[in-house]
Amino acid sequence: MIECIFTIDYEIYGNGQGSLREVVYEPAEKLKEIFLRWNARLVIFVEVAELEMIEAKEADPAIELVKEQIREFHRSGFELGLHLHPQWYGAKYENRKWILDYSEYNLCNLKQERMIEYLDRSIAYFRKTLDLPEFSPFSFRAGNWLLQPTQSITGALAERQIKVDSSVFKGGLQSKNNLDYRAALNNGFYWHFQQDVNVPDPRGSLLEIPTYTQMVFPWKMYTKKRVELDRKAPGITNEGVKSRVQTWTERFKDRFRFRYPLKFDFCRMTLDELIAMINGIIKLDRREPSTFKPIVAIGHTKDLADIETIDTFLSYLNQKHIPISTFKQVYPKIVIDDSLAYVP
Ligand SMILES: [Zn+2]
Repeated sequence: MIECIFTIDYEIYGNGQGSLREVVYEPAEKLKEIFLRWNARLVIFVEVAELEMIEAKEADPAIELVKEQIREFHRSGFELGLHLHPQWYGAKYENRKWILDYSEYNLCNLKQERMIEYLDRSIAYFRKTLDLPEFSPFSFRAGNWLLQPTQSITGALAERQIKVDSSVFKGGLQSKNNLDYRAALNNGFYWHFQQDVNVPDPRGSLLEIPTYTQMVFPWKMYTKKRVELDRKAPGITNEGVKSRVQTWTERFKDRFRFRYPLKFDFCRMTLDELIAMINGIIKLDRREPSTFKPIVAIGHTKDLADIETIDTFLSYLNQKHIPISTFKQVYPKIVIDDSLAYVP
């Protein structure tokens, strides 16, 4: 059985340049309309650190529109997940430009007290924005997908009532950031984890439901659509990491691979690619119908140029009777008794 979970990283993305109205608010508004039309909901991964900083520095007048949009998503039954780029908290705003603090790029590498301070701060801003003092996000996606080293963050997230992580994309490798999700290729469609997100641990306190990927030959990554999206946003692929120059060996290791993980990205893939990917999963489902297959698709508000493709793809899923769910909706189908989960 297949269920699709659409997720969108709701953020400026990259080095902080761009207007909230154009890069976040307007595309998200169009997405909301389409999903409501199909009576479907998606998971909005709100990057709250940047919103708090933009508001504090009065750097963008559209911040109020964005906050109202987040409330509206919540009222309309969309799931609000936590997405966090810690480099925003130490950012400086000078001459109308953001200088992000890349020394705090990976939340998992921060000292425990700092990590907890940032998690609590981000959830506090969420609660204030929604005016819901009890609100806790159900799901989490780390900035730049970095949930390694995992050890110290799992318990901290679980203690804050977060149940699901969706940072992993199987086969992922960024040597410069010490991200390596190749070992997860052997895992199923979801798994519990504790010490290492790559390693299933039935007693782990968090559930990983990764962004779906397919390992493809390198040339498959170069479609006209993908190249054009990169051209429109030069220098901010890989979320604008300019903290350290990549060494030659790192570049070699990442680029000269036999196969690459193609993410199930509903903003960057063409309609043909999206349909081919889901058809592959449908074929697999016919062979193993009893395995529950939550399939996570990813998108970024900044990449939302081709709304028609998304609309047509939702209609295709509808024809194929594939439901569209959120993490909150699929969780009880996977975890029968929450109390059995490991308590750190
Ligand atoms: Zn992000």
